[in-house]
Amino acid sequence: MKDNPNSTPGLNRRQFVKTGSGLLAMSSFPVVPDLPARPAAPPVAGPIVEGFPPAQLVGRPAPEGLKPGLPTAERVGFAIVGLGSYATGYIMPNLANTKNAKLTALVSGNQEKRDTLAAAYGIGNDHLYDYDTFDTIADDEAVDVVYIITPNVFHRALVERAFAAGKHVLCEKPMAITEADCQAMIDAGNRAGRKLMIGYRAQFDPYNVKAIELIRDGRIGEPSTVVADHGHLLPLDVPKNQWRAKQEVAGGGSLYDIGIYNVNGARYLLGEEPTAVRAKYHRGSGNPEVTVEEEIEWQMYFPSGVIANCSSSYLTTNNKRIHVQGDKGELTLDPATNYYLRALHVTDRSQEHHRLEEIQIPESNQFVPMLEEMAACVREDREPKTPGAEGLRDVKIMEAIYRAAESGEEVSIG
Ligand code: NDP
Repeated sequence: MKDNPNSTPGLNRRQFVKTGSGLLAMSSFPVVPDLPARPAAPPVAGPIVEGFPPAQLVGRPAPEGLKPGLPTAERVGFAIVGLGSYATGYIMPNLANTKNAKLTALVSGNQEKRDTLAAAYGIGNDHLYDYDTFDTIADDEAVDVVYIITPNVFHRALVERAFAAGKHVLCEKPMAITEADCQAMIDAGNRAGRKLMIGYRAQFDPYNVKAIELIRDGRIGEPSTVVADHGHLLPLDVPKNQWRAKQEVAGGGSLYDIGIYNVNGARYLLGEEPTAVRAKYHRGSGNPEVTVEEEIEWQMYFPSGVIANCSSSYLTTNNKRIHVQGDKGELTLDPATNYYLRALHVTDRSQEHHRLEEIQIPESNQFVPMLEEMAACVREDREPKTPGAEGLRDVKIMEAIYRAAESGEEVSIG
């Protein structure tokens, strides 16, 4: 990767994908020999406090009781695959806060952690699987939806196995590594006659939904530019960062992990699709343990003439900002994509005295509406708001961004 200081010597990202090294990683799933052993993530005791992030991303015990809603027997049953920081810290606790879904099964490569969580969430032994026994979930009538929350390179194979087992699928972002992978996943869902949704929680976040509404209502006039940046540091003593640093497991670096929020965010805020991109790799730490790109900047060009200037970085402190400038005013989501704390400001610049308004939304959980959407789609037999096609679109754009960074040329998106 000629511009990326941390690339694997002699093998750039596209060559890696083309040579099938990615497939090799998938076929030997879940063993990734050069990763350090993963310690189990013990649940942390403590109440679920709405509006505050948990202190540590290592899981929490089951919240007490279910919210009023459908009787338990009528709720859509979810199996969680991959009991890591996101699954245990955010998805499993929030499932119990939905009106129409329930947690019914766990799939994990770590039996001790799985059994501890099963006991905390009241899940019986008949609904516990590892990656070898996963396919027998086909016979588990308590499971309607399989939610894949593993490292990125495993998404495709697990989604295909879940469809083969006759289940509906919710899959984390990025949907997969290549556009071809994404298409294969969509095709598998169509063949099975099952739903496929991608876990784009920000599209269910009341702050982001409000920002879309304000832009469509003309509050900032005609949008002209977007500036979107996402970043965080990547300390390698944190287990969830170890696979993120490895090209063969993550499939891409900061772009696939968090830059995707800029790509997806610009698309839903503007309501249009980019037709071309330019990009450049930036700094790298020089750490040989990190084989993905750490920092990348890119521009996306939209048919209306809007340009989105974006960056993603593993070399900066937490940064999750999306800003849209229009000919009457501007709108800033900062933070735009935090789990709990978000802020939305709108500035009216059409008057002599500029007026800054802070939009506050008291009930702003984004996980619950996302999970409820998947369950409702199953119950009502309809397409999800964020289907496989949405995940494919982002992967296609991100592949174009890598091609643009490698070639130094503008790359068109068909
Ligand atoms: P973690 O590393 O915390 O968890 C991943 C889990 O996957 C592990 O705990 C493990 O679960 C399982 N796993 C199976 N094989 C491997 C392997 N070879 N190496 C590492 N883990 C393995 O990652 P995250 O929870 O942070 O991320 C998981 C997925 O969720 C990613 O696709 C990520 O992009 C996405 N994500 C989405 C977010 C969002 O806001 N939408 C936020 C964070 C992550 P077990 O031990 O049970 O088998």
